[in-house]
Amino acid sequence: MTVGVLALQGDFREHIAMLIEIGVNAVEVRTPEELDVVDALVIPGGESTTIGRLATIYGLIEPIRVRCDSGMPVLGTCAGMIFLASSTTEGEQPQLGVLDARVRRNAFGRQVDSFEADIEVSGFDSPMHAVFIRAPWMEKIGSDVEVLAEVTDRQGDTHPVLVRQGRILATSFHPELVGDTRLHEMLVALIDEA
Ligand code: GLN
Repeated sequence: MTVGVLALQGDFREHIAMLIEIGVNAVEVRTPEELDVVDALVIPGGESTTIGRLATIYGLIEPIRVRCDSGMPVLGTCAGMIFLASSTTEGEQPQLGVLDARVRRNAFGRQVDSFEADIEVSGFDSPMHAVFIRAPWMEKIGSDVEVLAEVTDRQGDTHPVLVRQGRILATSFHPELVGDTRLHEMLVALIDEA
């Protein structure tokens, strides 16, 4: 079993380390050929416009889309979530469009508004410590998208920050920065299911 981490930009090394920790063969993915041999894909946090532009240049957009459509498990964190989604409230940027959601980039504010919180995740028996760094949230999600965790903003409104649609998992926060391997384990469990 091999899990790829899209390694164009962002914190892909942290994801590789998490996967190694849970005993998975983890490889960096930068080309369609490298994508071909993985059983699942992690799309890291970083800058979604940069990841999208580089994925376009490397000819990866269509191949990733095709793999997602054929049921490959995917975990996208933060910028990775934005890249998976169908649209952003900020307008056009390269996106895979495989996750039926409209996302708001930098939804919680600027860099100084980055924060950490313990959040309840449905199906987990203890909270996840979640790090939000210029994080997005989901504004509008399709009926196939299941919300696994949400947060309440300063106005008291709740927003999805962890969702699942089929074998696609997407989070606003960074599990790879706090050493909580549960979402990576969930991704690996989805390979067995596939
Ligand atoms: N703000 C970034 C974006 O819009 C995401 C930040 C992150 O991945 N931590 O792409």
